[in-house]
Amino acid sequence: MKVNVRAAFLALILFLVYSTVFGFAAESSVEIHFLDVGQGDSTLIISNEKTVLIDAGTTFAGQAVVVPYLKNLGIDRIDVLIATHPHSDHIGGLIPVLENFAIGEVWADGQIHTSRTYENFLNLILKKDIPFNLARANQRVRSIEENTLIDEFIVLHPQEEFINGLNNNSVVIKLKIGEHSFLFTGDIEKEAEELLVNLKSDLTASVLKVAHHGSDTSSSEKFLDAVQPSIAVIPVGENTYGHPSKIVLERLAERGVKIYSTANAGTIVISVTQDSIQVNALETVVRMEEKIELRTATKQDLMKIPGIGEVLAQRIIDYCQLHGLTSIDELINVNGIGPALLERIKQHAYIDFSL
Ligand SMILES: [Zn+2]
Repeated sequence: MKVNVRAAFLALILFLVYSTVFGFAAESSVEIHFLDVGQGDSTLIISNEKTVLIDAGTTFAGQAVVVPYLKNLGIDRIDVLIATHPHSDHIGGLIPVLENFAIGEVWADGQIHTSRTYENFLNLILKKDIPFNLARANQRVRSIEENTLIDEFIVLHPQEEFINGLNNNSVVIKLKIGEHSFLFTGDIEKEAEELLVNLKSDLTASVLKVAHHGSDTSSSEKFLDAVQPSIAVIPVGENTYGHPSKIVLERLAERGVKIYSTANAGTIVISVTQDSIQVNALETVVRMEEKIELRTATKQDLMKIPGIGEVLAQRIIDYCQLHGLTSIDELINVNGIGPALLERIKQHAYIDFSL
């Protein structure tokens, strides 16, 4: 009898260990994995054993990282595969993924692009006869909303009519779980961001997958103000493009956003329930450049701003003494300061209204 109780107890422990290891115990949360695919982009979403994969990095990263990562998690089927746009750092890895897993359906932007990688990707979908959907604004991916903890899975972009540039027509997805939401932005740039803001799309999200690897052609201030994220994830690796841009990091930091990048933290996993969110990764700390307070700045301080010499520095001081200064924009009235220099001053200076 005693032995039986012990056996039952051991079996229970084994079951708990097994279910934790294989994720069955995590059914009350949705897991979002931002995979470390180097310079590229790949996100895996798991809820109630349903899986979504958005992009898969380059073909190399797909083979070396994405396929083994999914297999290690015991995944053999991807219910929804999303290709945000035809660039190889996003769709290249989808080729080994298509070769290794059963796929429920594919959603993609459907832009025209001539590259061998894109051709191979499309051919594989045709060959495997996988249902293919053109993602367009306001569509909902119903198969993911059913039988999962995900409340809404909506396409926000591209619109019916494409705008200029492959990046700018990336598929943008918003995912909602209870009070939390995620915004997946592909590689959209400021033109698409502005369009989305003007269309009054509901962009608010607790977690923003930062567009285009943190490039300063994206993450405009207006867009960040519309999204109001508390967490930002930047998929980025070693590159020669200067990603992520310091300006973007500072824009996020100024808004109190916690920043995580795959370059610093490796693969980032976020667990979400109806009312909680947990990030298991090292945070990226952004050291803010010391900005110059305009109304108390000396000539030497002002001359630290690129493009401002002794003459302009003196004119700014004179302007402040004569007119006061209630907004940096007023400096456009200073002889010699044009819109481009004004933008640069804004990057390097501020007004402390408490003084
Ligand atoms: Zn990219």
